[in-house]
Amino acid sequence: MSSTLDVPLAGDLDARTRKFLDRAPHALVIDGELVPAASGKTFDVLDPSTGGVLCSVAHGAAEDVDRAVKAARAAFETGPWRTMSARERGRLVYRLADAIEEELEVFAQLESLDNGKPVGVARAADVTLTIEHFRYYAGWADKIEGETIAVAPPYTPGARYLNYTLREPVGVVGQIIPWNFPLLMAAWKLGAALVTGNCIVLKPAEQTPLSAIRLVELIQEVGFPPGVVNLVTGFGDAGAALSNHLDVDKVAFTGSTEVGHEIVKASAGNLKRVTLELGGKSPNVVFADADLEGAAAGAFNGIFFNHGQCCCAGSRLYVERGAYDEVVERVHGMAKAIKLGPGMAADTQMGPLVSREQKDRVTGFVTSGTEAGGTALAGPELPGGAHAGGYFVQPTIFTDVDHSMDVVREEIFGPVVCAMPFDDVDDLAAKANDTAYGLAAGIWTRDISKAHRLAAAIRAGTVWINCYNMFDAASPFGGYKQSGYGREMGKHALENYTQTKSVWVNL
Ligand code: NAP
Ligand code: MG
Repeated sequence: MSSTLDVPLAGDLDARTRKFLDRAPHALVIDGELVPAASGKTFDVLDPSTGGVLCSVAHGAAEDVDRAVKAARAAFETGPWRTMSARERGRLVYRLADAIEEELEVFAQLESLDNGKPVGVARAADVTLTIEHFRYYAGWADKIEGETIAVAPPYTPGARYLNYTLREPVGVVGQIIPWNFPLLMAAWKLGAALVTGNCIVLKPAEQTPLSAIRLVELIQEVGFPPGVVNLVTGFGDAGAALSNHLDVDKVAFTGSTEVGHEIVKASAGNLKRVTLELGGKSPNVVFADADLEGAAAGAFNGIFFNHGQCCCAGSRLYVERGAYDEVVERVHGMAKAIKLGPGMAADTQMGPLVSREQKDRVTGFVTSGTEAGGTALAGPELPGGAHAGGYFVQPTIFTDVDHSMDVVREEIFGPVVCAMPFDDVDDLAAKANDTAYGLAAGIWTRDISKAHRLAAAIRAGTVWINCYNMFDAASPFGGYKQSGYGREMGKHALENYTQTKSVWVNL
């Protein structure tokens, strides 16, 4: 196997990271055991900065999903997980957070190698938020409470009843994860599911399985009972097997709206519960009265953070006409100055996209947007040499575009922003809402009342005022319209993983 790790720019690998890569092919995790796929097959995981092979992992499929679901079912029905105190479950989740913290560097490097993002970003954002996320939910474990209700049915006058509710786990949960924040998206799903007592089958994205593999190994190492978290690495067919499985009680999915539709259809078989965190085409609105330097930096970060591979990317930039030229110039200036390179190089500010498929998709949009009459202002030259085969794309700002064009309407999921001037605030909310999506929005102005009025008018699950891409484990995140349903994070996510039982006692 020719290893991409021989490329000089790969940077200094932690010995534990190298050891992890060297012990490939990586296994599935089913019922606490590391096992190969039933077929014996494996597939290669690629380094997007070169296209070279990082290592190989088990190629799980329907048969493996079925084994994993059986293990999760047994763990849920008869394992110690169900009878363990909620506080003990919380303690295990705290222990997991500590274990991740001890391997922070390993996780950051795996994420950078696998996804392409700068290792510093993986360290400060992905892994740090993951640790915080698990700690936040660990604290919830022993605070899941029911209620007592003053009931008085009219058909039993004089009788007295005690009525109370229990909040119980949903059961066996399938969690299907995308490649843009592989570890963090797994944490968003696992945290709330674990502390509410569910058992899980996790399916990471085919492009980026490595951090999930190490995470689920750690889950076994810190002492979770076998079968509580199972891992099946594989392709879309494994995800489909999970969402079609009749013994899965719930599927939680983050990814494309297209696959979201498939999951809803698949859920019909046993009417499993579904939560979806799908795509977006989020408006980021800059008024002329904003701090334009801060707003331009916010517009830049809103689209180019994680190379535009964010469901909440601020991919439609509306700027009040008087400030339009200045903001576009500033954003373009920052884009041109970006240092493109492999995620593991210390000076890299933007890495490659995750895959060749993604690169082709994004550059296809740049071509079609230009053909449709848009003007593409591009960023720096692409890296050459050892990284000429990497999946790099220039950060791009489209001007001269409007709502009739695909680049304005469709989720590109790459470093491409459409800048459009506006004159009329009243017309703006309609424009911002002229999309099938409703995940997020940004507003930049010094006029607080204008900001709040627009925040109320925009149909989106998150609105950022004079900031963008702010996340906290305590704050709910999720979509309106075709951006999905259900909320992740905060106490809201606990709703996704519990169901309510009403108990009546004749007194
Ligand atoms: P995707 O196909 O939606 O993949 C997301 C996850 O779903 C992966 O684990 C994938 O497995 C799995 N999957 C694929 N087909 C499935 C099916 N029929 N049933 C159940 N699970 C299935 O996303 P993608 O193809 O990687 O990216 C395509 C586009 O999706 C992007 O360009 C972007 O627009 C959008 N996207 C959005 C987000 C987000 O955060 N909202 C994240 C990623 C992508 P495989 O990886 O093996 O296919
Ligand atoms: Mg796919």
